[in-house]
Amino acid sequence: MTTPAATTLLVASRNAKKLTELRRLVASEGISGVHIVGLDEVPPFPETPETGATFEENALVKAVDGCAATGFACLADDSGLEVDALRGMPGVLSARWAGRHGDDEANLRLLLGQMSDVPAERRGAAFVSACALVTPAGGQHVVRGEWRGRIVDGPLGDNGFGYDPIFVPDDDELSGGSVAGRTAAQLSPAEKDALSHRSRALVHLLPVLRELGAGS
Ligand code: IMP
Repeated sequence: MTTPAATTLLVASRNAKKLTELRRLVASEGISGVHIVGLDEVPPFPETPETGATFEENALVKAVDGCAATGFACLADDSGLEVDALRGMPGVLSARWAGRHGDDEANLRLLLGQMSDVPAERRGAAFVSACALVTPAGGQHVVRGEWRGRIVDGPLGDNGFGYDPIFVPDDDELSGGSVAGRTAAQLSPAEKDALSHRSRALVHLLPVLRELGAGS
């Protein structure tokens, strides 16, 4: 008996840590029959600039581009941090808040400076992830996940990436009190995966991913 070939799923990200998280999340859900490749594993193609006003728009454009260029089903995440005291900013500008795309340290320092006089009771924030999945058959799915917490005074922890060292998740029904005041960068990868905005978004795509794996 021959094993059916796996369906290739392109995950449209150049952020190695985000890509690792997405791969881990898909694997931990026991999705079989799906072979994940990243952008660096497919021939380069022109990418539309991320200029959308919403996470959903940006994620969908990335997934449409990736699917059209490669012919593979494509999963794209657009994510960021929405800070209440900054009226939801940096939002879709999270990756380039300090002016240079992907400079995590500068982004985090700038945000901490902006929050320096904001009292504890107004330091609420949420990580947001929009995930889009586009299939060669023309299917389009866009979902969202949010992870509430607050911004602390200074960075703590070495895990994760981006704003993780200054974000303390709320203890909510999912964490069951297990977070206990630690920043997202002080959580283990498994703890972050169980709670994060990306996992809260991806959970809505599991039925479609399972169908992909089954070859439909
Ligand atoms: P994107 O690659 O355009 O989606 O930008 C995502 C940006 O949002 C990253 O560069 C980080 O600054 C921030 N971000 C998104 N998800 C996370 C996370 O899980 N932890 C910390 N920062 C995140």
